[in-house]
Amino acid sequence: MTRPTTPSEIARDAMKMLLARKEAPTPENYARAYQEVSGTKPAAAETDAAAGNTARNEQQPWNELIRDLLKQLETPHKGITISRKKEGLETVLAKFASNQATLFEKLRGLIRSWAGPTTGSPVEAVPAPEIDAAMPAAAGKPSRAAEAGINSPVVNDELMSQLREMLAQTLESMLPLQADLSTEIKALAQQIRAARNNAEITLIAKHLRQFWLKLELRGGDKIKIQEGLMRLLRLLVENVGELVADDKWLHGQISTLQEIIANPLDRRSIADAERNLRDAIIKQSTLKQSLADAKTTLKTLMTTFIDRMGKLTESTGEYHAKIESYNQKIGQADNLPELSHILEDIMHDTRIIQTSVMRSHEELLSARKQVTDAEERIKRLEDELEQISELIHEDQLTGALNRRGMDEMFERETQRADRNQTPISIALLDIDNFKQLNDTLGHQVGDSALVHLSNVIKESLRPSDAVARYGGEEFIIVLPDTSLDEAVETVNRLQRELTKKFFLHNNERLLVTFSAGVALRANNEDTEDVIGRADKAMYQAKLAGKNRVFKAS
Ligand code: GH3
Ligand code: MG
Ligand code: MG
Repeated sequence: MTRPTTPSEIARDAMKMLLARKEAPTPENYARAYQEVSGTKPAAAETDAAAGNTARNEQQPWNELIRDLLKQLETPHKGITISRKKEGLETVLAKFASNQATLFEKLRGLIRSWAGPTTGSPVEAVPAPEIDAAMPAAAGKPSRAAEAGINSPVVNDELMSQLREMLAQTLESMLPLQADLSTEIKALAQQIRAARNNAEITLIAKHLRQFWLKLELRGGDKIKIQEGLMRLLRLLVENVGELVADDKWLHGQISTLQEIIANPLDRRSIADAERNLRDAIIKQSTLKQSLADAKTTLKTLMTTFIDRMGKLTESTGEYHAKIESYNQKIGQADNLPELSHILEDIMHDTRIIQTSVMRSHEELLSARKQVTDAEERIKRLEDELEQISELIHEDQLTGALNRRGMDEMFERETQRADRNQTPISIALLDIDNFKQLNDTLGHQVGDSALVHLSNVIKESLRPSDAVARYGGEEFIIVLPDTSLDEAVETVNRLQRELTKKFFLHNNERLLVTFSAGVALRANNEDTEDVIGRADKAMYQAKLAGKNRVFKAS
């Protein structure tokens, strides 16, 4: 590195040295740095005389400038921090070091800009035009600031306020689309209009970024929910044609779907419904196949029988004619009850000529038995199918009741409570910091934690109590015949159980805790209202520091 020779280079390097050492730019420190860089002791006379000497020699304006620079660096200026000043200084030093005259001029401008209105970056803060004109070195040249397209503070302010207004209006144009975010949007727009300096604008930029992120997340979730719903609908529509005559099952599915659409949508409930529907459709097609097989077998049997009968009874002309018509009827029949009727008619007719066709009659009986067997098999499959529909009362992951199951249980129990004048309480549980568990250990571990909690709850409840998964990580316990205090005690006991029965992940014991609100149902109180009160109490428990149980008022 070559040693700086001109005073401006020495001044620049001295300043850099102070910045690098993070020393306060006091006159003393600066003098020492200057001395160190130049390798000389500054002549005392030179420094002292500088203030009073008005003659424009090489040295003097720099001394003044540097002194001024140091003074202004330390003097507080509204809206500009020392580090921002240093940043500006660095920029000017780096940009204009090659030309002493320009550097001088820029540094003067920089100092002025600290005292003047403050907008924009350090480069914008470089000399205003009148300073350019005042400096002999720059006289006759166009202003650097003007060259760089940087406007005077007045124009700049105007432009800024136009931009601010446009930004605010753009935000406000989202109001009709994002009604529920209107307060946030209005507040942001107001902040934008009111912003007057860099610090405020930087803060707004940060808020705006957070706001976009929020919007994106909302949008993303909505799209996922829509996709999920579309998939569900497609699945239903595609399979409607596959459904058997008994449409009890179909009604069950449709009401599940209606329930999902009627409640606030979330991706999990849609995914659950989709899984249930797929299971049921698989059973459905098995059943349909069995039904078709049974029909074909029966038709073949009957036709074979009739053929044989025809051969056996060639002598009995009247019967022969009947057989012809039966054959036709069998061909047209497309369900089991119809075939069963035809079979009965044939048997009736057969009895008339019983003696001559005894053997065939036996075959007929065996055919009849096969029909019964087939019917039984179908009944079994139908029962299974109904059970699947019943399963839709349960949450697939945890085996706890789902909302529908809970509603039914609650209705049954509240009617009983009203009839017998007995109390009924409910508890709403919400796992503490569950998102963190998901984020650190993964969603599947989160799922296992839900199963664990649900199991512990089930194990420690009375048989008459019931647990339902109310939402993602929220459970409701319905406690018939239980007073408020007893219900609180039950939930407290549950908390203690959880500290004994750890949730194990990779042999590591993880403590799952929850916050809960407990409410006693008032006479004839609606389910939603009791749950609402329990939810409020649960929220209070969260606010109070989590892992606690609060009574609802
Ligand atoms: P708090 O203590 O305040 O309740 O905090 P939290 O993190 O439990 O609450 P928050 O409502 O912010 O997060 C709940 C999380 O539960 C967010 C969601 O990803 C997760 N979650 C919801 N349903 C399921 C699920 O079925 N499985 C898993 N693994 N996570 C779920
Ligand atoms: Mg929650
Ligand atoms: Mg939670």
